[in-house]
Amino acid sequence: TDRNALLEVAHLSARYQRHIVALEDISLTVGEGEIVALLGRNGAGKSTTLQAISHLLPARRGEVSAGRVLWRGADITAEAPHRLVKRGIVPVLEGRHCFVSLTLEENLIAGALARSASRAEIRQGLEEIYQIFPRLKDKRQLAAGLASGGEQQMAAIGRALMAKPQLLLLDEPSMGLAPLIVEEIFAVLTRLNQQQKLSILVAEQNSTVALRHAHRAYVLDTGSVALSGDAQALSQQEDVQRIYLGFA
Ligand code: ATP
Repeated sequence: TDRNALLEVAHLSARYQRHIVALEDISLTVGEGEIVALLGRNGAGKSTTLQAISHLLPARRGEVSAGRVLWRGADITAEAPHRLVKRGIVPVLEGRHCFVSLTLEENLIAGALARSASRAEIRQGLEEIYQIFPRLKDKRQLAAGLASGGEQQMAAIGRALMAKPQLLLLDEPSMGLAPLIVEEIFAVLTRLNQQQKLSILVAEQNSTVALRHAHRAYVLDTGSVALSGDAQALSQQEDVQRIYLGFA
């Protein structure tokens, strides 16, 4: 085990419906204050890895079949999702999952309920989120279902931030968004990382953007770690992109 790791995933395997192997012997770490990217093609196992860590694999069908997840050295493999949030491990899963009939502001407030925040704490939290994402302040009374994809992604991240995370688990934040919005979101993540030492594990198919903002990366291929290392070094290895990330 790695004593310095904030999060350590050790020899994790996961499967669906008992026999579909989705992850096989995955090991990775996220250090305090690190942005770590999880890359790989469609179906490589990125979402499954994040769901296994946050204990959110689809009920009954998905399961962790081997391995452990450690948080500051403590075994959290079997811990319930809400307990993980209390510890500061907060997921933003694929597809954003806003409550569509609630306003954007109500979506943000929902994130504070996980830590039973007081009214004053919620107010304070909202002010912080509105400084980070001014666009959400302008549109705070809009039903989330009527917001753009970018606004919904910002709300999903904002909601996670309302839970006061130490580690954000982000699944494909760029999905379906225009390049400028993707840049804006990654710029915010980098700023939170630098200013608040927020640690981030981010799964991305957009490896170019992810490698530009991450410190380190793991490249998954059919459920295993094919490569890992310094993000800048990986981004300069052209064959990496071609073989594992689906670039021509
Ligand atoms: P994507 O970006 O498409 O989500 P990914 O890298 O996140 O890709 P996963 O979604 O983790 O990959 O999928 C890993 C493997 O597990 C794939 O072979 C996929 O078909 C399979 N899988 C994922 N979810 C389920 C499920 N609910 N039931 C059965 N098999 C699944």
